[in-house]
Amino acid sequence: MATNDPSIADAARIARAISHPVRLQILNELRGNGAYVMHLTAALGRPQANVSQHLMVLREAGLVRAIREGMTVLYQVSDPEVLTVVDTLLGLSQKRMTNRMAASAEGTGSENKRRPRGKCRCPRCRQES
Ligand SMILES: [Zn+2]
Repeated sequence: MATNDPSIADAARIARAISHPVRLQILNELRGNGAYVMHLTAALGRPQANVSQHLMVLREAGLVRAIREGMTVLYQVSDPEVLTVVDTLLGLSQKRMTNRMAASAEGTGSENKRRPRGKCRCPRCRQES
């Protein structure tokens, strides 16, 4: 046991659940009204089994909730504060990247390519197109 303080232990549990690149991506995709598994699969370019596995970790840590909608399941963050944590981490990273780029000579053409949205066939993306 690393600590007797239950809130420290729980905070560490939250951090562990967040601390995976795929799970950070998933949480990032859940902004707004959440997303369908189908959408996450397309947005991340990963097999559904893999995405579901990561969603399970996030669910078990209480960071996301699943809402059944007929044949599909909508995932949402359980608390908007989860995204505040993600934003803080991304903000920290962004700052470091910017500093690093400024420090190096070849900090020029870093094409920050957005994921392709076109191939997602989830109910929402279909509506948009
Ligand atoms: Zn979609």
